[in-house]
Amino acid sequence: MNYEIAIIGGGPAGASLATYLARAGKSVAIFEKSDFPRFHIGESLLPATMPILQDLGVYERMRSTFLNKPGGCWYYDDTPVMSDFAKCRETASFKDFRHAFMVERGEFDRILLDNARDHGVRVFQHHLVREAIWEGERMTGLQVKDLQTMEGKSIRTEMVFDCSGYRSVIASQRNLRKPNRLKKMAIFAHYRAEALEERLKQGWFVGQMFYDGWLWLIPIDKDRISIGVVTTLDNYKKASISPEQFLDHYIRTLSLTRKGLGKNIERVSDIYLYGNLGYSSERIFGDRWALVGDAAVFIDPCYSSGVHLAMDSAREIARVYLEHGYDARSLQNALSKYEKRLRQHEELVLMLVDSFYMASRNKFLRFLVKNLSKISSLNQKFVHFTGGDLADDPGYIKMTYYTHLAISALANVFQRQPSAAPEKGKSAVLIK
Ligand SMILES: Cc1cc2nc3c(=O)[nH]c(=O)nc-3n(C[C@H](O)[C@H](O)[C@H](O)COP(=O)(O)OP(=O)(O)OC[C@H]3O[C@@H](n4cnc5c(N)ncnc54)[C@H](O)[C@@H]3O)c2cc1C
Repeated sequence: MNYEIAIIGGGPAGASLATYLARAGKSVAIFEKSDFPRFHIGESLLPATMPILQDLGVYERMRSTFLNKPGGCWYYDDTPVMSDFAKCRETASFKDFRHAFMVERGEFDRILLDNARDHGVRVFQHHLVREAIWEGERMTGLQVKDLQTMEGKSIRTEMVFDCSGYRSVIASQRNLRKPNRLKKMAIFAHYRAEALEERLKQGWFVGQMFYDGWLWLIPIDKDRISIGVVTTLDNYKKASISPEQFLDHYIRTLSLTRKGLGKNIERVSDIYLYGNLGYSSERIFGDRWALVGDAAVFIDPCYSSGVHLAMDSAREIARVYLEHGYDARSLQNALSKYEKRLRQHEELVLMLVDSFYMASRNKFLRFLVKNLSKISSLNQKFVHFTGGDLADDPGYIKMTYYTHLAISALANVFQRQPSAAPEKGKSAVLIK
């Protein structure tokens, strides 16, 4: 089988990229191992993704299918720090939308993949890409296995985009993937529970910080809520209890879940655990291949930037490819610009997220953030960043990060904070 462009994975990155390329007349095939809809984490979207959904022609469909998300609210101790998307400035990329969606990812991803198919993309589901085929440093195709017939196939192609997410086929094959400095893990599940917290009832993302971690509540429909905990691998290992007990501990002890949810909480999905959450590939592109979305980099679930970065980089690399084709030299030059942009986004999100974790370990920083967020011009900056507009004021993100770093370094000399991780046989210590 020959295709001009082969894409590994039909998640948000793969489906969006394929749609952009097929719309411009390219012959594109997606190889996706799963049958959609399938479970996937990442339910809280950002308003900056709304213009991309509109561009792809699926915004109205999404709007009639999913819950409206007006903003995000992070409890620092018991004080809410808010990002109300309606309060963005006129310069925001999402000024015409000022909201996002809370989505069931199985359905969201299915709509995007169907849309790619409707634009002429050949979609092969149940097709596992086993490895890429190389001639020296040049990629020439893929080894694929049809999981229904168990038949193996060789695909010849001019260009491969790896959009395989966490599995990251090419980066794994070439040993390019490195963990990031955050060293976090996550445990999550879906629950049937009544929302009592005011914003949660209205579709907001609501989270609560604890020492070196946080818990999320994401309403996905009328009576189901996604609940997850992100903390250090160390915290989890030290607790030496099961993932279910670990998640349960936070649900029972944090004030957000105790007061923000009704008494009856019933788990309605499996429990999922991701160790070594954040990573990045040392190389993003090479001769006739490039990585897009989570296959290239994933930072942390904090601030819900994953789907946005995946779809934004898909749109960007489609633009680059359509401008340069696979004319070797000009494409390589253009791809290095794509990489530069991706690395800038990675650095800025990492700084934002790192600042959040530093505040979780430092009372004075929390005091500062809680009070500064009441100043409307500063809060508007927070709305832009947490809405997905990173290019808005990178200097401000850097200043925030270095201020957090300096205060944390000073505080480390004088102060030791307790951990909120459950210790065997002991009750939790919450930051207060
Ligand atoms: C705990 C946690 C919470 C998160 N919460 C959020 C959130 O609230 N909001 C948000 O925006 N993001 C969130 N994310 C991130 C989000 O899930 C990802 O960033 C997003 O799904 C990336 O899209 P993608 O298309 O790059 O990869 P994916 O969505 O992972 O898609 C990759 C696709 O490739 C397929 N595939 C993999 N290997 C192969 C193979 N060998 N052959 C064929 N197909 C293959 C997979 O089946 C999959 O369909 C979270 C992530 C984690 C870990």
